[in-house]
Amino acid sequence: MRAIRLHRHGGPEVLETVELPTPVAGPDQVTVRVSHVGLNHLDLWVRRGVPGHRFPLPLVPGSDVVGHCVELDAPVALQPGFGCGHCDACLSGDHALCRDYVIRGERGDGGMAEVVVVPRAHLLPLPRGLDPAAAASLPLSLLTAWHMVHTRARVRPGQRVLVQAGASGTGAMAIQVARLLGARVLATAGSPQKREACLALGADLAVPYEEAAQAARDWTGKQGVDVVVDHVGAETFQASQRSLRWGGTYVTCGATTGNLVSLDLRALFFKQVAILGSTMGGMAELRTAWRAVADGAIRPVLDRVLPMTRLAQAHALLEERQVIGKIVVAQDLSA
Ligand SMILES: [Zn+2]
Repeated sequence: MRAIRLHRHGGPEVLETVELPTPVAGPDQVTVRVSHVGLNHLDLWVRRGVPGHRFPLPLVPGSDVVGHCVELDAPVALQPGFGCGHCDACLSGDHALCRDYVIRGERGDGGMAEVVVVPRAHLLPLPRGLDPAAAASLPLSLLTAWHMVHTRARVRPGQRVLVQAGASGTGAMAIQVARLLGARVLATAGSPQKREACLALGADLAVPYEEAAQAARDWTGKQGVDVVVDHVGAETFQASQRSLRWGGTYVTCGATTGNLVSLDLRALFFKQVAILGSTMGGMAELRTAWRAVADGAIRPVLDRVLPMTRLAQAHALLEERQVIGKIVVAQDLSA
């Protein structure tokens, strides 16, 4: 079978199409013929490399996989992350705290291939009527947003939430999860089209990044928001802190614009602010969030679908931040 594989880190040219042995399912495993793979910012980190972090090269990228399960003769999506299944963290459902946690396409081979073989426990059924390309845009960003907003920040009905980068893959999911939990949402985004997209997803208000703190104060009668959801990193950190009310919660799952920030500890303790980290989430959490997709309470935000053979172009679009929601690639490796 054909697959796209990284043998070294670098620009989009390091995404090489190669011939690999077609994997064969063992006991408790199933075979999935891949139809669509969603891109995440993680794909860019994996391709470029991250100083101080070692990826297991050569590596087939691709975390969000949808396809046809041969054994079940049914369309399926795959859990994008999984634990060892038997440590204390996994047994309590906190798979992302497992020391052997694997994100598909990051610490183990992913879905940019014609066929993948996975444990049966990794399967998610495809909700009836959900377009497979749209489904491939969901799992990783939905799980990330669900864990941040629902599980870590514990957003409650009536709370006010600031979602930074609301038109990004994770942001679009965070707006919808916060709304589903009964909160009201202020979103930031860099262009009028992206702010329009935030409003269409249920944000009450959408403003440019530089107006975040002022908008948060105006919107809440000077108090500040209850929760800030942020994965932009260094560029938004100060505005995020200034937007929070006393006793508020800041939760982060990423640092796209830089990971080093300065923090005034006095502001932290006087305001009694909580700063929380969040990465991926438990497999049961995704099953719960997936039901909200089946119910139509959370909808995918698909920017466009490109052929898998044009993966390099898809990477470039994501790198240039020209995307609203997600880019998905469709299987054409054998063509
Ligand atoms: Zn484990």
